[in-house]
Amino acid sequence: MTRTVAFVGLGRMGGPMAANLVGAGHRVLGYDVVPEAVAAAAASGVEPAASATAAAEADVVITMLPDGRHVLDLYGERGLLAAARPGTLFVDCSTIDVADARAAHEAARAAGHRALDVPVSGGVTGAEAGTLTFMAGGGAEEFAEAEPLLSAMGRKVVHCGAAGAGQAAKICNNMILGISMIGVSEAFVLAESLGLDHQALYDVASTASGQCWALTVNCPVPGPVPGSPANRDYRPGFAAPLMAKDLNLAADALRAGGVDAQLGLKAAELYAAFAEGDGAGLDFSAIVRTIRGSGAATEHTTKDGTNP
Ligand code: NAD
Repeated sequence: MTRTVAFVGLGRMGGPMAANLVGAGHRVLGYDVVPEAVAAAAASGVEPAASATAAAEADVVITMLPDGRHVLDLYGERGLLAAARPGTLFVDCSTIDVADARAAHEAARAAGHRALDVPVSGGVTGAEAGTLTFMAGGGAEEFAEAEPLLSAMGRKVVHCGAAGAGQAAKICNNMILGISMIGVSEAFVLAESLGLDHQALYDVASTASGQCWALTVNCPVPGPVPGSPANRDYRPGFAAPLMAKDLNLAADALRAGGVDAQLGLKAAELYAAFAEGDGAGLDFSAIVRTIRGSGAATEHTTKDGTNP
C-alpha cells in the first residue's frame, strides 16, 4: 500500500532512508533544519516540506534526529504532534535514551496519536543500501502498520517489545559493539608487540572463536578487510562521537539499573575521551591508535607489511 510519509531529519542516515521510501513508491514529505539536506533529499524524489505542514498531511511521521532532546522538542515545543491528524503513527528511528523514548510514546498518546521507537543498526552504508536492521518498541498493531515501510529501508525488522524496547535493544547491541571493538583493537596491538602479522591474526581469529563484526567487517587495522574505514584513514563509517553517545546511554542505563557491567562502563569512559580528543572526526575503529599510543609510526610499518 502506498503511504504518505513525513520524514524529519534528512542527515547522513535520514537522507538515504527517505530516498529508499521514495524508491519503494511512497510519497515522502521531507524536512530538515539544514536546507542543503533538504535539497539533497529532493534530488532523490523527496518533496520538500515545512515540518508541521508535512505532519498534518502524512499517514506516518518518521524522525531521524541526533538525540532525545531533539525528538521531544520537535514533538512538543515545535508542534509536530499538534499539527498532525488524529491517530497519526509516529515512528522515531533516532538513537535516544529509553526514558526519552517512553516520554515520546506518552506525548504522542496524550495528543491522540500512536507511536513506535525503532532505532536502527547498519550505519550509513546500510541506510544507502536499504539493508538496515530495525528494532521496534511499541504495540503490535503499530508495528504491523510500520513494518512494510521499515522493510523498504532495511533487511531485518524485529519487534522487541513494548514502548522503549527498541532503544533498549539498540544500546545493548552497541555496548557489545563498543566493547568488542576495543577488544579487537587491543588484540591487534598485542599482536604488533609480539611480532605477529595483522593478516595472520585476522586469518586465525576471523575463523576462530574471536570472530565478530568489529573484526570481520570493521577491522580496525588496514589490510585484512579492504572495505573497512582503516583503509581510508578512518573516515567514518560509524563516527566515534556516535559510539560515545550510545555507550553513554548504555552507561546511564547500567547505573540506573544497578547492573555491575564493568566493561560497558569502561568502554563508555574510553570512547568519551577518544571522541572528545583525537577521534572527533574519525570512525570508532580508530580507537586502535589510542590503544597503540603512537599511530603514525605503526601505520608506516603496517603499510610496509611488517609489524614492530
Ligand atoms: P546527522 O547529524 O547526519 O542527521 C541528523 C539530522 O537532523 C541533521 O540533518 C539535522 O539538521 C537534523 N535536525 C536536527 N534537529 C532538527 C529539527 N528540529 N528539525 C528537523 N531536522 C533536524 O545524524 P545521523 O548520522 O543521520 O544520525 C541520526 C540518528 O541515527 C542519531 O540518533 C544516530 O545516533 C543514529 N544512528 C546513526 C548511525 C550512523 O552510522 N550515522 C547509525 C545508527 C544510528
